[in-house]
Amino acid sequence: MKTRFKNYLDILLDFVYPRICLSCEKNVLGAEKHICIECIMSIPKTNSHFQQIELIERKFWGKLNVKHVYSFLKFSKKGKVQNILHALKYKNKPELGEYIGKMYANDLKEIDFAKNIDLILGIPLHTDKFKLRGYNQADEFAKGLSAGLNVPFDTTSFVRTTFTISQTKTKSRFFRFKNIEGVFEVIDKSQIKGKRIALVDDVLTTGSTIEEAGNALLGAGCMELYIITIAAAY
Ligand SMILES: [Zn+2]
Repeated sequence: MKTRFKNYLDILLDFVYPRICLSCEKNVLGAEKHICIECIMSIPKTNSHFQQIELIERKFWGKLNVKHVYSFLKFSKKGKVQNILHALKYKNKPELGEYIGKMYANDLKEIDFAKNIDLILGIPLHTDKFKLRGYNQADEFAKGLSAGLNVPFDTTSFVRTTFTISQTKTKSRFFRFKNIEGVFEVIDKSQIKGKRIALVDDVLTTGSTIEEAGNALLGAGCMELYIITIAAAY
């Protein structure tokens, strides 16, 4: 009886406060959360958990010693995946990241992935961006993966710092870039050393940010490195 009452209440709430699918913008109803069932069934998956995809892996060849890159969805401009990533980043929807993380964890369970890693880390966000957005979308995704896979995740031992160099000293383009984006820094090596780590981000495009972060972890003694992203462009 209680369940039936709750169902009526949900229907009423959907009527009073319509919720929209963050992928296709149609109304989501009843038990649907964030993304409608039609979109969930049709969003393009990479299936990179079953086999390595060369077009994804090659982004890191000769640059980062990574065991396997897992990307959940295939990114295409103006597609449904772009809408999802946009909502996660710019529409104040941190819970969407966690939701997708749990969804992808179900796929990764099919290959018993949890046995390969000791720790999950989101790519740290620059402090200014964190203050502006109020959350780090990579950490939200990592949180969902962590809950679904039952592997710990940490947001304190790996950070992005800004170091200030006076403008006259920032002659090279490289240093100017670093100055804006900050640098990755391991502040607690004991959390990283000897660990098998999954480094997590929202989207993989050129891979340069992940490369920089991954090398900082390997430099601090990370034993094996995996990459997990919500989507990859390839
Ligand atoms: Zn939809």
